[in-house]
Amino acid sequence: MKHKVYNWLQFNQINRCLLCLGSAAGIAECICTACQEDLPWLGSACRQCALPMPESGLLCGHCQHNPPAFSQVVTPFRYAFPLDSLIPAFKYQHKLTYGRLLAQLLLQAIVHHYQEHEQALPALVIPLPLHRARQAQRGYNQALELARPIARRLGLPLDRHILLRQRATTAQQGLDAQARRQNLQGAFVCRQPQRLAGKHVALVDDVVTTGTTVNEASRILLAAGAASISVWCVARTP
Ligand SMILES: [Zn+2]
Ligand SMILES: [Zn+2]
Repeated sequence: MKHKVYNWLQFNQINRCLLCLGSAAGIAECICTACQEDLPWLGSACRQCALPMPESGLLCGHCQHNPPAFSQVVTPFRYAFPLDSLIPAFKYQHKLTYGRLLAQLLLQAIVHHYQEHEQALPALVIPLPLHRARQAQRGYNQALELARPIARRLGLPLDRHILLRQRATTAQQGLDAQARRQNLQGAFVCRQPQRLAGKHVALVDDVVTTGTTVNEASRILLAAGAASISVWCVARTP
């Protein structure tokens, strides 16, 4: 296991910062320290949905009135510059190097979160699925590209066959809350629920915007027998 981790780091080793092209020799994350400090770190946020808030440890109004199906969102960043260019480039322009960087930063946030809160790690990692047609068109699923190295580094099993997207949905952008929920109705299906039974599951996605999509996927996983869901994502939209 250790040997594999070492190889993975070596494989990603480049000497230039991905963001400013300055020297980043010997830095596993592929970005220099100054660029890392400039990233839009989340800071205080709602303890359930990670919505940025003035104080940490509180629940936002939405989570108080309509508690989401997932228990928590673990994320390092607010969705702001430069993530609003890195993530779309990773998602739509095949910039898989950015994907490795984002996975590395998310992994650090996960390790920190579970240590700080003294929580046990989930028993299973599930990437948020894309519909077959969308994945064929894109060539990869960005959530899987993030989930795979993270699961490997944490030594957790990853399963990308339990949760499927059986219906292609239109983009959620521009829809109001009710239309978003309707758009997602019947979008996810759970296969082989016996593999989920009683397990704490990590659901991985790139960005959580309103949380409607990860909430619907979490609902399906809980209904299929999962004990609880933690959402892991690179960034949260304020
Ligand atoms: Zn830099
Ligand atoms: Zn909240």
